[in-house]
Amino acid sequence: MAPVLGCVADDFTGATDLANMLVRGGLRTVQLIGVPEAGTPVPDVDAIVVALKSRTIPVADAVSDSLVALKWLQEAGASRFFFKYCSTFDSTDQGNIGPVADAFLDALGADFTIACPAFPETGRTIFKGHLFVGDQLLSDSSMRHHPLTPMTDSNLVAVLGRQTKRKVGLVQHRDVADGAEAIGERIRALREDGFGYAIVDAISDDQLYEIGEALADLPLITGGSGVALGLPNAYRRRDLVPDQPGRADAVPSVPGKALVVAGSCSSATLGQVAIWEQTRPSYNIDPLKLADGVDEVAAALAFARAHPDQPVLVYASAAPEVVKTVQQRLGREEAGAMVERALAAIAKTLVDADGVRRLVVAGGETSGAVVSALGVTGLHIGAQIDPGVPGTVTLGDRTLALALKSGNFGAPDFFEKALAQMP
Ligand code: ADP
Repeated sequence: MAPVLGCVADDFTGATDLANMLVRGGLRTVQLIGVPEAGTPVPDVDAIVVALKSRTIPVADAVSDSLVALKWLQEAGASRFFFKYCSTFDSTDQGNIGPVADAFLDALGADFTIACPAFPETGRTIFKGHLFVGDQLLSDSSMRHHPLTPMTDSNLVAVLGRQTKRKVGLVQHRDVADGAEAIGERIRALREDGFGYAIVDAISDDQLYEIGEALADLPLITGGSGVALGLPNAYRRRDLVPDQPGRADAVPSVPGKALVVAGSCSSATLGQVAIWEQTRPSYNIDPLKLADGVDEVAAALAFARAHPDQPVLVYASAAPEVVKTVQQRLGREEAGAMVERALAAIAKTLVDADGVRRLVVAGGETSGAVVSALGVTGLHIGAQIDPGVPGTVTLGDRTLALALKSGNFGAPDFFEKALAQMP
């Protein structure tokens, strides 16, 4: 059966976040890494999330990459579409949220969609069109200083208004609080008045369910992962997906050796590395040695092979002052790329030559590098290990179990927990 929902996400971890949400709601979901090559069979699932890297690339590239993904999802048979961006609406006045959403509306022949990055459970609420991050307005939060997409205006009606020629309206909290019918009525009125978009207020997760029920038949929804919370129930009520509890996160289990790779230097990952090292073997890659031509890859491989009976951790993660020294000597980008290449090469060799089939990877960019070195094209999303981090199984010929977490996610014992819980 064709998927009900086709999603395009503007970055990799955002795609996983959305896919995880859909699985928790009961939709069988895969995440595809980029647009599949022509002729790739369409997976038999309820929802497909195509992960792009389009958040901060030039507008024209973001639009064209997104349209290619949308076309693939249309051809795969999806009947409803979702454009996923960050819950802090990361974008500049030039884009990319407005231009991509505009292009999707045109391509789908649709006249209206919503923009709703709210996710109260994670502290993202919208009231009278203004986005809050925890207790602060977006423009008072640390997003004000983001290096690529500084957010200095919390009024999303105005922010989106600067990114599109369509009229941007608002579904106010009082309508949202009255439930799905009131939301639907307000949207009908906005459409009649020629609005192309509505920002939708939401201050509790309950309201996201009402929004999902009201909007489940729109051709296009745009927002963060939160607004997807209500869609699975709404689809079940419409008999678009069967009502069978427990079917969504059933992925095959993957036997084989395990490896943990960490390239994130965030505080959560540093804590996870420290906990692992209390009881388990680990090898620390030193970027300065790498830069001096020392074969750290070979040394890490030898270390892993010297511990054939238990999972090892290979990490470059280091405290901020150490990272600063490395970056001063090598440059931020160069240091990052060099470490990513080394960690990816170690993972690839241990998978290709040593029977590793179960990998836990810490770090968004690091995960991207490892997944691309392994040639992974897509992931079946399984049960959640920790908030925002599902266990996954790769699509394609070589089956691997992967737990990919962005730096700050996961409990202190995440590595051990992931190895125990992943498929
Ligand atoms: P996060 O999800 O925490 O942002 P990422 O993997 O996305 O983690 O980014 C961490 C970056 O830091 C990667 O590019 C990685 O290669 C780099 N890195 C890791 N260890 C070091 C180190 N010791 N010195 C400098 N850069 C490092």
